[in-house]
Order: sequence, then C-alpha cells, then structure tokens
Amino acid sequence: MQKNKHDEITSRRTFAIISHPDAGKTTITEKLLYFGGAIRDAGTVKGKKSGKFATSDWMEIEKQRGISVTSSVLQFDYAGKRVNILDTPGHEDFSEDTYRTLMAVDAAVMMVDSAKGIEPQTIKLFKVCKMRGIPIFTFINKMDRQGKEPLELMEELEEVLEIQSYAMNWPIGMGKEFLGIYDRFNKRIELARPNADEDRFLPIDGEGELAVEHSMKETSYYKQALEDVMLLNEAGNDFDEDRIAKGELTPVFFGSALTNFGVQTFLETFLQFAPEPQPRLTKDAEYVDPESDVFSGFIFKIQANMNPAHRDRIAFVRIVSGEFERGMTVTVPRLSKNFKLTQTTQFLADDRETVNQAVAGDIIGLYDTGNYQIGDTVISGKANFQFEALPQFTPELFVRVNAKNVMKSKQFHKGILQLVQEGAIQYYKTLHTEEVILGAVGQLQFEVFEHRMRAEYHVEVQMETMGSKVARWIENEEDVKESMAGQRALLVKDRYERKVFLFENNFAMRWFQDKFPDIKLYNQL
Ligand code: GDP
Repeated sequence: MQKNKHDEITSRRTFAIISHPDAGKTTITEKLLYFGGAIRDAGTVKGKKSGKFATSDWMEIEKQRGISVTSSVLQFDYAGKRVNILDTPGHEDFSEDTYRTLMAVDAAVMMVDSAKGIEPQTIKLFKVCKMRGIPIFTFINKMDRQGKEPLELMEELEEVLEIQSYAMNWPIGMGKEFLGIYDRFNKRIELARPNADEDRFLPIDGEGELAVEHSMKETSYYKQALEDVMLLNEAGNDFDEDRIAKGELTPVFFGSALTNFGVQTFLETFLQFAPEPQPRLTKDAEYVDPESDVFSGFIFKIQANMNPAHRDRIAFVRIVSGEFERGMTVTVPRLSKNFKLTQTTQFLADDRETVNQAVAGDIIGLYDTGNYQIGDTVISGKANFQFEALPQFTPELFVRVNAKNVMKSKQFHKGILQLVQEGAIQYYKTLHTEEVILGAVGQLQFEVFEHRMRAEYHVEVQMETMGSKVARWIENEEDVKESMAGQRALLVKDRYERKVFLFENNFAMRWFQDKFPDIKLYNQL
C-alpha cells in the first residue's frame, strides 16, 4: 500500500557516520546494510584494505553486491523506517565536502575504536555536529579485541569532547574474554557466543542481575560489569531523551562491528531515538516544515566528473520539505532562474526503481552543467526563500598557485572563480601583489583543483605548498596595521575582502596575541 506523504516523511532517518579512519565505519555500514536486507551476507567487501572509505569502496560494494549504492548515499529500509546514510570520507579524502555533508543530516553516529579512544578526525567532525546541535550516538567498536577500560573510554569521551554520555549497554569482558553486553536499556544480557541450545538474550531481574542460571555468573568479568553498571546507575548521567535530541547527551553502545555483535541492537535503539527530518531555518529566520507543500532543499555538495566521459557535475540536494517529482520545475532564488528537472535528475539512492519517491529527508542528485553552487536553495512553485548559508570552514593547508602559462591567465582566473564559488576550495590573495593563495581542509582538495583546472578549464597550474597555517579572521580590522604582519604572520584577504592572518603555527599566533593584545582574532568553524 502506498504510504501517504506524512508517513513517508516521518519514516526517514538521515544520518552520517563520523570516525577516524580505521575505526570500523565501512564494516558497520555493511552490517547495517545487511540488516536492511540490502546485501545478502555481511561478509567483508574490502579484500584489499585501503584504510579509507573512499568513493571507490561504495562503487565496489555496488559492483559486488548489485545493490543500490551510490558514491555518496546509501538507502535501506528497516522496521518501517527508510534509512539514509551519507558518506563522510576520512583520510586523504578529507575535505570541506566531508564537513558539509554534516549540514545535511539529522543525526550522527560516532564510531570509536576501543583501543584508540577519541582520535583527531573524530574530534574535528564531532565539533561540526556539536555546532549544529544534532543528536550524536556513539558506538565503541572492536570489543572483540583488548582495548581501553570502558570507564576510561567514557571519561575520555566526556573530557575530550565535552559532551555528557549515557551508557546504553556495558561490555562484559573484552578481547578473547568478551562474554557479551549488559544491556541497560533493554534490560537483558546479550551473549557474545551463545551455545547452540542457548538463547542469545538473557533476562535481567529487578535487582539488575542475571535472572537465570548461567556459568557467566561466576566470572570476574560479569562481577566487574555489575559493579560498573551499579556505579553508572548511582553516579552516571540519567537517560534523557530531550537531551539526546539536543545533542547534549550521547547514548553510548559497545559492540563489535566485525563479529556483528551488538550492531542490530544498536540499529534498533538508534532508530527509536534518531530524529525524523527536521525543519530548517531560512535566511529570514523562519523554519521550513518538512511537511510543507512546497518542495525545497539545499545543495550541500557538488561532485564533478562522476562519469569521466562527460563533464557533468552532480549537485546533491538535501530535501528539506515536500516531495520531489520527476519533471518538476524548480527555482534557484540566487539566480532567479527556473530549471525543469526532467532528464536532468536522477535518484542517487536507486536509479533502477522508477517508482522511488523522494521526500523531505532524502538526498537527490541533480545533473548540473555549471549552474549550481554549494549552499543554493532549490524550491518549487511560487515560493521564494533561501536557506541559511552553509558555514565556511577554517582551512588548514595553503598553497600559492599560478598558471604555468601566463597566456592562460584569463582562463586561470575564470576557473578559480568558478571552483571557489562551487565551494571546491577557498580563495585568498596577498594584499598588494594579489598573488593567489588557496586554502583547504584536506590535501585532496588541491589535487581535485589541479585536476579540474586541467580537465575543465585547460589550464596547467603551478602550486607551491605553504604547508599548514593557522588562519584567523579579525573582529576589529580597522586596527590592523600592515607592520604587524611578517614571515610568521602573513596578512591576506579572503574572497569577501576580509583580512585574515595566516600564522605559521599556534606558537606564532600566541606570540602575536601577546604582542598585539588589542587585535581580536577569531576562528571560523
Ligand atoms: P574505516 O576506515 O573506519 O572504514 O574502517 P574499516 O571498517 O575499514 O575497518 C578498519 C579495520 O578494522 C579493518 O581491518 C576491519 O576489519 C577492522 N575492524 C572493524 N571493526 C572491527 C571489530 O569490531 N573488531 C575487530 N577486531 N576489527 C574490526
């Protein structure tokens, strides 16, 4: 039976998995797909371990499994919910795209390697989620291996990320002695390796102890887990759905993605608390309701050259409200221009199923011949509003760039302008000489820039690395004197003509602040 629009929209759960490379994102994604029936067995796709969750991995999954996978969005149904997982690549694929993807989700799952704890990339991505105030669910992975003590991990989580936590379950032993998890939320114990004649789930009695006879009861691991749980009950945070929804409290799950332990319990509990598509603010500070009759969305990512034979780009749209239909006409208010989305549109979720519907919460891909920009709003009918601008992220890596052939200077500037507008890279220039400096959050952005300048604008560029810098904008620009700048504190302008200091490192920045305490520096995201 066809669901109505309300049911369709409220069944959507759109999230991203954030983690440091190797924490197990690929592995858990596969298990989730398996539970969603999207793949037949939950074996490991990645034979040759590349250590990153690259576009090619998703393509590889598609090739091998014949399932609906695209380079950026995975979709499956589970327990009446339609789940959209957005890819946030780690590793050398790290770029502003990764951050921006977090603008398009309603929740995040944070994967943590139990032996490594909270790692740098996780911290960066976490900050973006925190800024958005979206709920964050934590999965502490690899319990089948010896890792840090669970209490220590919880403490680290709270201290490093400054978020409060609530342990939904608690490991009983770990590594070779991993017996299972004490599930505080579902009030049961889930056995890691049940015997053939044994139930996987054992009940907990009113005292919080195993309600049935079991050899586990005699182990020190069980006793330790009971003790820890008692401590959590007494001294830990309370479970609080409101605070979870606001991103103030993260529910923590322990498990092992590789051995598929605790993943299904996690998925079910996650879907219970993960939010349905959320309203979004416009530039006029009004909320757009997902169930509004107007189809609206915003572009959070543009991917070039998905098909090397064409020069197509795909603009990824997060649908904020209403329903998308093939052939509909949409407006991009920035351009005051209409676009008919006939053959130009493709469902990235599953283009083989023409009946597929896209509603608020879903992601669609629009073929783009160079019209769209990151952050653009697309809307149907006579509506006219724009969603809040996407934030700019503080770049960490910089290069000086120019055209190898000075005769190509016009093409060079045109290409840069377009790629900067598209959000592929950030643009800066030196004050008087107007040399072009590019900034990025990941090395990959420079490589993509170089490639696209060659492929799309026929310009060979020369890039001279400046390494990493600490970029800071200035509140009181009028007080800045050029004499304050130097080798270790370059003064440049961004694309909006705002002055920016590029410090050699944190030390140089502190030195500057000591010397010029009246200059108020600030950080973008
Ligand atoms: P990603 O980089 O975050 O996508 O991480 P992967 O899913 O590729 O996992 C990185 C490595 O950790 C792979 O060798 C996985 O087999 C392994 N791994 C993932 N989950 C687990 C787990 O629960 N236990 C163990 N022992 N290894 C795991």
